[in-house]
Amino acid sequence: MTIQWFPGHMAKARRQVTENLKLVDIVFELIDARLPMSSRNPMLDDIIHQKTRLLILNKADMADETQTKRWIEYFKEKGHHAVAVNSLDSKGLKRVTKAAEEVLKPKWDRMRAKGLKTRAIRAMIVGIPNVGKSTMINRLAKKNVARTGNTPGITRSQQWIKVEKELELLDTPGILWPKFEDQEVGYKLAVTGAIKDTIMNMDDLAIYGLNFLAKHYPKRLEERYKITEVAEEVVETYNHIGKLRNVKAAGGEIDYDQVSELIIRDIRNEYLGTLTFDFVEDYE
Ligand code: GDP
Repeated sequence: MTIQWFPGHMAKARRQVTENLKLVDIVFELIDARLPMSSRNPMLDDIIHQKTRLLILNKADMADETQTKRWIEYFKEKGHHAVAVNSLDSKGLKRVTKAAEEVLKPKWDRMRAKGLKTRAIRAMIVGIPNVGKSTMINRLAKKNVARTGNTPGITRSQQWIKVEKELELLDTPGILWPKFEDQEVGYKLAVTGAIKDTIMNMDDLAIYGLNFLAKHYPKRLEERYKITEVAEEVVETYNHIGKLRNVKAAGGEIDYDQVSELIIRDIRNEYLGTLTFDFVEDYE
């Protein structure tokens, strides 16, 4: 999905999240495990204020496991509960319900102590485009989609999905915008495919990817492209990869555009292994 984020759209998206917030006990903030910082909406804190939140690092199957563990610790230290999942794996998603129960336990205990009847936890998913919101909702929904009927405050198109006895999820996710101000964030979102259609120059993107790999994952570069660093004249590296992978134009010379595409495809399709592009140590 491509969304052009203009100020009007941002205001509308924000308004929608604010409206739905009133209906839920907890916000599931979906972030890309490969980009635990760059895939967050910069204004979410502002939008949800004190509402209880669970951070869900989705696409954990594509991320560097060591970094994911460190990120979970990092968020814990900042006072956030966080859990890593792969939304394509329905079984693993049970962790989400469990984590939500844990986060809300103190509140639920207080309600019980006052003799109030407890009900299922109500949650909504919020995140930037492509982070996996629909996938997670569909996997959690199984077949338990219940019409909302005439619950006040819910538009008729919205439904509560009964995930388990303990959890109900709003079927409409809050779609928020990524950060655009920072060029490096743009590169990271684009190179991982978190933003697919991008006006970014493919060569710049591929070179960014190569340099990142050389710095953080040199072994993977060596395994895939038989190099450990990017040459000062990047064209030499392109010639090398082009020859190695036989990326040639009709005339027999290296097709540099195709080399760029190949590098980006390799990164996005995990041919260079599981990768994380936000390193926790850069944010400590
Ligand atoms: P949305 O725009 O946030 O609703 O994102 P989608 O649910 O449409 O997901 C975007 C893409 O990411 C789709 O191709 C999904 O199959 C893929 N995807 C979503 N979650 C995961 C995950 O946990 N692991 C992997 N490998 N892919 C995922």
